[in-house]
Amino acid sequence: MPTTPTACPGPCNCAWRDAERTGLPHDYTPTWGQPVHCQTCQDRTRTDLTELPELLAAIWLEATHGTARPADVTTSRPAGIAPWPGQASRLLTDHIVGGLTEIEDDVRDLRGLGSRPDDVREGTTATQAVRFLNAHLDWILEHHPAANETHEPGSGNPAAQIRHFNRTAKRFTSRDARMEQKAAPCKRCDWRALAHADGADYVECRNCGLLMTPAEYQDWASEITATAPHRSAA
Ligand SMILES: [Zn+2]
Ligand SMILES: [Zn+2]
Repeated sequence: MPTTPTACPGPCNCAWRDAERTGLPHDYTPTWGQPVHCQTCQDRTRTDLTELPELLAAIWLEATHGTARPADVTTSRPAGIAPWPGQASRLLTDHIVGGLTEIEDDVRDLRGLGSRPDDVREGTTATQAVRFLNAHLDWILEHHPAANETHEPGSGNPAAQIRHFNRTAKRFTSRDARMEQKAAPCKRCDWRALAHADGADYVECRNCGLLMTPAEYQDWASEITATAPHRSAA
């Protein structure tokens, strides 16, 4: 490639970006974008996106069967405690479907495509939005004006938003249960919230979203262990 490679803005580079921000020498190497997001982040975004229709159906089932656990979702959303059964599911559905259609409208506008048919039922709207975004995902990940924005909470990067919708939905429906909790606290937020999901490429902080490769986690855990006696002695 003739151009200078850019670091992937995705969560694969969380640890590298944090290290860069300190301005101090460090051993992290960035994952390069291909050409913007790396292949792993492209693949993960597609999976995150295509899982959403089924997750939305599961959220709806939680509401209608009264098994929703609103306490799980209030931490990541400003809605507060749900005062009536099903409200948490309702709000989360609005949040996700509203977010997906907003990205769809944005892409349609940017690409000069016609406006979205909006006279259909919510379930159909969501399915159509996912199908549309899936068809345009390569463009979104490379050419969307926010494609280079790093994935931080509140990022305008559509890939970060899709990931956020997927994670929030999975937390709500308790589908992130098969997580191996890690002993070391998060390198970024210091919460004891690092976990490794079955088959995942990364150790993920369930509080701030930091991702570390298993090797990076091992280094970090060794570093913590090495400094622990000094901490407790102080
Ligand atoms: Zn990446
Ligand atoms: Zn964290």
